[in-house]
Amino acid sequence: MRELTELSPPPPPKSIALTIDDGPNPTWTPRILDLLAEHGVHATFFVIGEQVEEYPKLTRRITDAGHQICNHTETHPITIAGLPRKRVRKEILDAQSRISDVTGVVPQFFRSPGGAWSKTVLELTAEHGMIPIDWAVDPRDWARPGVAHIRRELLKGKDGDILLCHDGGGDRSQTHRALKAVIPKLKKRGLTFVAL
Ligand SMILES: [Zn+2]
Repeated sequence: MRELTELSPPPPPKSIALTIDDGPNPTWTPRILDLLAEHGVHATFFVIGEQVEEYPKLTRRITDAGHQICNHTETHPITIAGLPRKRVRKEILDAQSRISDVTGVVPQFFRSPGGAWSKTVLELTAEHGMIPIDWAVDPRDWARPGVAHIRRELLKGKDGDILLCHDGGGDRSQTHRALKAVIPKLKKRGLTFVAL
């Protein structure tokens, strides 16, 4: 798994990366994009291929705003680590062509659904020229543990960390509200948000 500080070129000192998974989503992605724009912050979106197909304009809004777009499989199978090679390849390749067809960007990074990695998933990620990415800070926002919990966990983020959040998969109002507070606070600590 590649760390933020191991990327090439390396990010500037005091960098932090916000990654946003499971979109695009017609309700939450625009709100998060607006919030990022308001703070002049770039993030990284790990999108699901079948949602890219459903919301191509919204997907282009992500890349047009200068955010990094990455592969998070075609259908988000949480059992991916146990799936046969052929099926894993299809999950990766379908999403890859979908994203590049819609945005003109060929994803350089891959995140497995639920962070479930297997030898096969890692081999295929490499075979298709992508770098595997996990996270350092997981506020479990997808489980809706409350704004205060998400905020507190995200504020543990420090230099070189990758933060995990979600704009898809359900009601993300807690995530949105937490980020509203967290982004300016982390910036005030001198951290710069970078896209992968
Ligand atoms: Zn996911």
